Amino acid sequence: MTNERQRKELLSAVKRMATLGLVAGTSGNLSARVKTGLYLVTPTSLPYETMTTDDLVLINDQLETVEGEGIPSSESLLHLAVYRKRADVAAICHTHSIYASAAAAAQVSIPPILDEVVVKLGGGVECAAYGPPGSEELAENAAEALGNRGAVLMRNHGVTGVGKTPAEALEACELVERVAQIFLMSQLAGGAKPLPPEVIEAGQAVYRMRHGL
Ligand SMILES: [Zn+2]
Repeated sequence: MTNERQRKELLSAVKRMATLGLVAGTSGNLSARVKTGLYLVTPTSLPYETMTTDDLVLINDQLETVEGEGIPSSESLLHLAVYRKRADVAAICHTHSIYASAAAAAQVSIPPILDEVVVKLGGGVECAAYGPPGSEELAENAAEALGNRGAVLMRNHGVTGVGKTPAEALEACELVERVAQIFLMSQLAGGAKPLPPEVIEAGQAVYRMRHGL
């Protein structure tokens, strides 16, 4: 198998995603850009607990398998659409975590209510227009709503986080889950209020600098 280092990095994030309970069963998926036009993705319908580096599938930007026995993730179009739009992104994580999915089911975007979210994700978390699972429509809607930020909610579905490494993309999904929980809980106390505009601007400036945007 080629790209052993990237395979290990990706698999390590896969195992952690499953351990954190951000997905149920074999749902969710992760990928990493090996180089331009070449990506490692998790296979569809294979239990994360027993997944090995050899199970990861190498695909090109035409969604053709270059190396591997498994079927590439059913959301591979989503991953390819984001990689096409974001040269700064080298890894993508998609999960169905509870609170993020609850916000996505309510079709609400999460406003910038926590400093760490603005600094790490570049602002709030937009809720993308709907697209059926696995479709080009879902892929394009999510990539568009993601913009230059670090994560996006997929309407009535889940969340996608991006980063320079699989660990960073997973961390974005973890952070969205945390802020989604806080956002929804804050409704009990009269609703979350946005941060002061100057704090949002300063946080976004840090994010852009870190990501070369
Ligand atoms: Zn999904």
